Formats: sequence, C-alpha cells, structure tokens
Amino acid sequence: MESRDEIKVSLMTKRNLGKGRIPNTDYKDRVFVLTRGKLSYYEGNLSKRGKLKGEIPLSAVKVIEKVDDDLLPKDFPKDNCFQVCYEDSLTLYIMANDKQEQEEWVSLMQEACKNNNGLLPMFHCGVWQGGQWSCCRQVDKNAPGCKPAFTQRSPADKENGSSTTNNRRPGKVKKDPLPAPPVPVHAKRPLPAPPPAAKVVVAVYDYEPSQPGDLELKKGEEYTITDNSRTHWWKALNREGVQGFIPSNYVQEKTEKGLIGEGWYCKDMSRQRAEALLKQEDREGCFLVRDSTASPGTLTVSVLCKTPQTTVRHYHIKQNPRDSKYFLSEKYTFPTIPELINYHQHNGGGLVTRLRLPPAALTGYAPATLGFSQDKWEISSTELTLMKPLGSGQFGVVRLGKFQGRMLVAVKTMREGSMCEDDFIEEAKTMTKLQHPNLVQLYGVCFKERPIQIVTEYMCNGNMSSYLRSKGRELAEDRSPLVDMCQQVCSGMEYLERSQFIHRDLAARNCLVGEHNIVKVSDFGLSRYVLDDEYTSSTGSKFPIKWASPEVLEFSRFSSKSDIWAFGILMWEVFTLGKTPYPNLNTTDVVRQVTHGKHLDRPQRCPHGVYRIMKQCWEKDPMRRPTFKDLQGQIEDIQEKDYCE
Ligand code: AMP
Repeated sequence: MESRDEIKVSLMTKRNLGKGRIPNTDYKDRVFVLTRGKLSYYEGNLSKRGKLKGEIPLSAVKVIEKVDDDLLPKDFPKDNCFQVCYEDSLTLYIMANDKQEQEEWVSLMQEACKNNNGLLPMFHCGVWQGGQWSCCRQVDKNAPGCKPAFTQRSPADKENGSSTTNNRRPGKVKKDPLPAPPVPVHAKRPLPAPPPAAKVVVAVYDYEPSQPGDLELKKGEEYTITDNSRTHWWKALNREGVQGFIPSNYVQEKTEKGLIGEGWYCKDMSRQRAEALLKQEDREGCFLVRDSTASPGTLTVSVLCKTPQTTVRHYHIKQNPRDSKYFLSEKYTFPTIPELINYHQHNGGGLVTRLRLPPAALTGYAPATLGFSQDKWEISSTELTLMKPLGSGQFGVVRLGKFQGRMLVAVKTMREGSMCEDDFIEEAKTMTKLQHPNLVQLYGVCFKERPIQIVTEYMCNGNMSSYLRSKGRELAEDRSPLVDMCQQVCSGMEYLERSQFIHRDLAARNCLVGEHNIVKVSDFGLSRYVLDDEYTSSTGSKFPIKWASPEVLEFSRFSSKSDIWAFGILMWEVFTLGKTPYPNLNTTDVVRQVTHGKHLDRPQRCPHGVYRIMKQCWEKDPMRRPTFKDLQGQIEDIQEKDYCE
C-alpha cells in the first residue's frame, strides 16, 4: 500500500553497505520507497512491509548513476545495478529487477536531487573491488570519478541512451521512458580532468559509428579512455561526456611533442613507404614527418623535390641541447615541431624546397577497424548487399558488397563442400582479432545460412600478381615502389610471425593491393580448411609447389620459416613484375631443383642487395633462414646510401 507522497516503491536487492569493521558484502531484498524527502528501505515484501532498515535524506545525495553491467564483480547477484552515493563516502548499490525499473529509479532520483548542493561532477561507473576501481583502475578508493555524472551531461545524450552505462548489449537498452531531467548544457566544455590512470588520446581518423554503443570520432579531437581492457575496441569519453566504443587503431596517445592529429605526421611509416607515397603524389614540396627508423627517437621530414630530377630528401629534426629548440637548419630554431613545420611551409630556410602539403593519401585514408564493432564478428546476410564479382579462387566467387548499405566490403561466398566449415567458423573468431595495416582485415563471417560468406576489407586494385603484371612497367621506372611492396608484405608477415600464426600459402596472388599502392596479405591460414586433396597434398595438382620449401615438400612441415621461403619467392615475383617462378620447369623438375639446393636466378631489374635477401630465404636448413623481423631491418637498409643529410 502506497501512501500519497510515495513517488515509487519497488522490491529490489541491495548490497550491504559494509560500514562495519569487517567489510560485509552480502545482499538483501528490501522494499525501497522514494518520497519527496528521502529514500527508505524496509524488510518484508510489497504486500507486507516490515521493519524500517535504513533511510537516506535526498539532500545528502551526491551521485545517482547506473553501474556498468560489464564492470560488476562476479559476486553481484544481478545486473541492472545503480548507485546512490551520499554523505561523505557512503555508496549504496541497488539492483533493480530489469532495465526499465533501473531507468525509472535513476531518472526519478536524479530529478528529485537535481538541485542538491553537493552533487559530484564525476562518478565511477564500476565498483571498488580488489583494491581498485573496476572502471578506471585507480587504486585510491577516494579517487575522483572517471565519468561525468548526470549534472554534466546534455539532455540529448540522455535521450540517445548514451548516458546509459549498461552497454553489454548497447543496442538493446530501452529508451528512458521518463523525460530526462533538465540539466545545464555548455556548448563546448573542457575535457573532464582525467584521473591519473586515465589515458588521453587524439583521434587520427574520423570514425562513424556502425553499431549502437559506438562513439563517433572526429579527427584531431581528444578523448579520455575509460576502459582499454580489450585490445581493439576501447571505451572512450568525448568532451561532451558521452561514452562509447571506439576502434583503438583510430586514436593515438597524446605525446609530449603534440604531433598526433597533425595532417603531415605519420608515426609508423618506413622510409620506403614514405618515398613511394611522395613519388606517387608527384608534387613539388609534398612532405610528411615520420619517426626515423634509422635513429629511433628522432623525427624525419621527407620531402619531394622535382628539379633537376624527382628525388625524395630526408632531413632529421634536431634539437639544440642548450635551449631544447627544434631545427632543420641551425639558423632557424623553434620551441615546437608544428611551429618549425609552419615556418618551412612558408620559407625554404635551407631546405632543397619549401614544404607544401602532405600527400592526400595521408589525410584521406583510414585503416580498417577490427570487425565492424566491438564483439561483432557474426554477420547476418540481411546486412550485406552483393554487387559485382571481383574474382574467383579456390573457395568460390568473391564479390564487391556493401555492409549495412554504406561500407564497401569484399564477400567471399564459399562453394559448398570446398571447405571444412565448422572448423573454419571456430577459427574465424580468432582470425578477426588479427589486425595489422598490412593484413586484409577479416571483418566477420555470415554462417547462419548456407553457403557461408566471409566478409573482408575491400582492396580496390585486386590481387598483387595481376597488379604487377598490369602496372609493373610504371612501378619499375623507379625501384623504390617494388622495395616498398616487399617491405609492406614483410611487415604484415612479421605481425603474423609475432602472433605465432602461419600463413601456409604466401604468394603474390594471395596479397591484395588497395589505394596508393598499399599492399596487404590475405587468405592467411585458410588453406588448413580446404577439402580438396589436389590442393592440400604436396603431390596434388593444385598444391603451390613453386612456393613450397624443401621441408614442406618432403614432410609437409609448415612453420614461419616455410613462410619465409615463400616470401623469398614472392620477392622474386615482385621484381619480375608478376612472372610465374621457374617459368620453364614442370613441377617434378621444380621439386628436384629445390631439394638439390638450386635457386631461382636474379631477376634483371633486381638490385644485388635485394637478391641477397631472397637467397637467405632459400636456405635449405629452416633454422638458418632469417625471421621476418630480421628481414624488416634488412629491407629498410636497402638504399641506405640515399639516406639523410
Ligand atoms: P581468393 O578466393 O581469395 O583467391 O580471391 C579470388 C580473387 O578475388 C582474387 O584474386 C582477387 O582478384 C579478388 N579478391 C579477393 N578478395 C578481395 C578483396 N578483399 N578485395 C578485392 N578483391 C578481392
């Protein structure tokens, strides 16, 4: 029986406050009663209220907020928890029976307390557990919260459900059935002060959310990371206090040099990639700034100069030990790198040419995200629109497609009976977690209906073997794009090696080319699921014998070292502009030649230094072959003589 001044009554579960000397975290069902002045709770049930067990005057309340389901410790008996912080540092955790009840209680209590003097601007969306806050990992129990509280959020955020922290399944949270309480809104307020453990990052690309619960990213803006416990999708907070998931490879940690987000800065770019990009752009003064691979800790400005002939010059940015100012030419020193760049954009100042604009490829290109959103790797066929065929391979036809009508993808429809589907589906979940700028991203798999479809990143220039054959002459005018292509494959393979993942079928035909000559390794590990003996047995007619190492041919022994052998053959394919290896030999002769230690000859346009690398890959003893990590350094060193003033 509710009296007239009772706003809401519910039977919910509360966690013991643990006020005693020995913390006691047991749980009790109580009848909660909200009136204009207080929150009270009683023993008993809704039809028979028992003894009054506690009362909180609403004027003492400092925070009323939900607790994120994902951040609740295992011993909490239910989800749908909300917290009432009051007096000095007491927090009552109450578990509602469902989301709607949780929403109603939080809204009603926030409305009732909105004019309290002591409201806190920030709160913890997790709980104190095991000596730290489960949300921000701060180890001080009294540390300030890591998320803006309801007084700091705009009404729009609340209506969108973005005030909700219960985003285990963000899309399924019901909209607030009650009007959001009016709160002060500031158009652009400063980023909430991050707690010591929170990381501030800067978006390096725009990101448009594809799932409810994702947060939009705007290039150059700062975000506070509130949860980075997963590798690829982090929870972040924007300036307006809206929280959501973001792809972690779209942001970079703010550095003291303050370069992240500058259109001309690219952190991890090899010298070859920089040269290839600048030459492709072919504009006088086109430039970029990158971390020097030759001297770690130093930055390099790479700039294209077209007279007397097209060259790329690389300048180290130096720092004066006396006043710590930066310079390219000792005469012109600056307190920050952006100021230095700005100066040289307007004045030659001793450089071979004035710096103009960075390559368009740097500003326009955003990497693939890992899957479409956090935890999404299972794709429904209703989310895909199939378009033109792109090619066909061992498993069937590959088509261009659109995901949710807006994002281009490649869709491989698996011919029935061509693969061991159950094993692949099991493995695909792991494969979606592999992420590198030089690996074709596996977004997810559509397997609820047959035939199964594999959805990957779309690469507009198709497979590298055909690309080399059609565009090779252009590329070969200058050797650096060819070295750059090998370097990119090597980078992707080094990541696979580090992840202890064996490709098993590395070849130019299994690499794809995107815009701006970006090369990515594709089809990694897929050969394990092929059901065709002609492909899997080393004596089969479709087995890639010409890429196979002696130990694969003899004992089917695959390892990262057999991938290295195949990489040597791939380098040969690159420098012959897409020729088939051992052009005049049949497969029996290839096996004989390989097992007797005879190698492919040096291609005509291949520098001796590059051929030396290939030959290392073809050492008969796998242990004597280099690792991809070793090769990365060696490829980087090619043309070292051209390097740096
Ligand atoms: P596969 O079955 O992977 O050998 O693919 C067959 C052909 O389809 C390739 O040789 C490419 O020409 C094309 N293709 C496969 N995947 C993609 C992709 N992600 N983007 C563009 N083209 C692709």
